[in-house]
Amino acid sequence: MNRKLLGLLMVAAGTQVSAQVTDAMIAGDATHPESVLSWGLGTQGQRFSPLTTINTSNVSKLAPVWSMSFGGEKQRGQESQPLVYKGKMFVTASYSRIFAIDVKTGEKLWKYEHRLPEGIMPCCDVVNRGAALYDNLVIFGTLDAQLVALDQNTGKVVWREKIDDYSAGYSYTAAPLIAEGLLLTGVSGGEFGVVGRVEARDPKTGKLVWSRPMVEGHMGYLNGKENGITGTTNASWPGETWKTGGAATWLGGTYDAKTGLAYFGTGNPGPWNSHVRKGDNLYSASTVAIDVKTGKIVWHYQGTPNDAWDFDGVNEFVTFDMDGKRVGGKADRNGFFYVIDATAGKLLNAFPFVKKTTWATSIDLKTGRPNFDPANRPGDPSAEGGDGKKGASVFAAPGFLGGKNQMPMAYSPKTKLFYVPTNEWGMEIWNEPISYKKGGAYLGAGFTIKPLFEDHIGSLRAIDPKTGNVAWEVKNSAPLWGGVLTTAGDLVFWGTPEGYLKAADAKTGKVLWQFQTGSGVVAPPITWKDGNDQYVSVVSGWGGAVPLWGGEVAKKVNFLEQGGSVWTFKLPKS
Ligand code: CA
Repeated sequence: MNRKLLGLLMVAAGTQVSAQVTDAMIAGDATHPESVLSWGLGTQGQRFSPLTTINTSNVSKLAPVWSMSFGGEKQRGQESQPLVYKGKMFVTASYSRIFAIDVKTGEKLWKYEHRLPEGIMPCCDVVNRGAALYDNLVIFGTLDAQLVALDQNTGKVVWREKIDDYSAGYSYTAAPLIAEGLLLTGVSGGEFGVVGRVEARDPKTGKLVWSRPMVEGHMGYLNGKENGITGTTNASWPGETWKTGGAATWLGGTYDAKTGLAYFGTGNPGPWNSHVRKGDNLYSASTVAIDVKTGKIVWHYQGTPNDAWDFDGVNEFVTFDMDGKRVGGKADRNGFFYVIDATAGKLLNAFPFVKKTTWATSIDLKTGRPNFDPANRPGDPSAEGGDGKKGASVFAAPGFLGGKNQMPMAYSPKTKLFYVPTNEWGMEIWNEPISYKKGGAYLGAGFTIKPLFEDHIGSLRAIDPKTGNVAWEVKNSAPLWGGVLTTAGDLVFWGTPEGYLKAADAKTGKVLWQFQTGSGVVAPPITWKDGNDQYVSVVSGWGGAVPLWGGEVAKKVNFLEQGGSVWTFKLPKS
């Protein structure tokens, strides 16, 4: 064999290796619908597919192709978004499980069940929201705060790294984000006085590259060296409170190649009782933009300074173009929708996306700060004239489960609308004295969540980010807890706790199709293309925070059955 031919053969063999998931493929994920490589169908998180095979004229014929059960006795909440690559679907399940499935037949190829220790402390059910793909690996986080990378073909563990100590309340539930050749993750545990942070690792080895704490006063690291303190110690936290300040980055992040920034939302400051930590408590309840290359904070926007209502600002920051500018939209748990300049962090627009927001009357667009109603802050238990055990109770809306929670919204560049899964509820909330104890709940608050309307809690709303106008809404009796998908076929897909996967006309909200999956849907649907066929998939399995924390709402949904399965649909052959 001549040298030239040998060289060509070697190049051909080499393409086998480079056919694995690359940075370029992840960067092009949103516009290459033959695979789904990231949470959000592209790192921007728009959840918009350019596919039009399934559209408003034929979606009524959509039919199941296969369903696969996660099996076992382990059910509970299934909040996972599947990934699809080269004929395989990768889907995580409750109790830190992951499955590889043949996308054509639904046949299970392999599964991995992470061995969980006793004493894990997930606040809000034993959920997982999805995996990340890189090279030949599929990577996901576990309830005992570890990252596990498995071979996509065999399911064998390639590397495993500890994020933090589960006995201190750390866990992991978000889908990791891959950006610029780095694996970006956060932490869960905001109810246990952990310190929220964002970390970047080498996705091939799990080796830590940088770490950026989300609470002022803590040191960041880059390549094993100190990389500057986050903020200024004690600038917005009194005394030692910053040491257990929360701000957990439990929903992961998004990334926009046009700005080079990763956007992570941060959770509530610890403890919930705001009187023991007077100040803004940066960077809790914020959107934080991080330079992926350096691990430095470029800008931040805080939705709820000195949060007193558990308004985790973790909600996804979804970038899009508006008036020739790169901006981001965020439907915050606190009930306000924010439009922010994605490059510089300037607030451009803010409006409520739920009917009742009692804690603030509006957002001042000049200063970016909320106009608080001071009477709606739960009282100080140590206030004069009190019994020292319980502060004044207030009725606040939204309730702490939020105008929107973990369920991701979608944005259509075609209709220029956001499709936001919203909930209308409020809560009685009061404060109690609290001190930090490692691994103990760090709240200092009591609460009961209540519906605001008789006929519905959930509502899928089509929202114009420029005006705040609601183009249409579809109400839902139970709280919405799954995410949304929109397509160039002018469709919006979403699931309900009552078990339906629904499709509506993206322009009018008219429901055109629905399918009963057999358990509640609390996960975001995906779509992809194989040959000439467009497929839609969604995970079904009722659970999550609502049945655990939902007070009077939990009673309203206790008839719903648990489950654990993936469903896949397509149009029948004509
Ligand atoms: Ca929280």
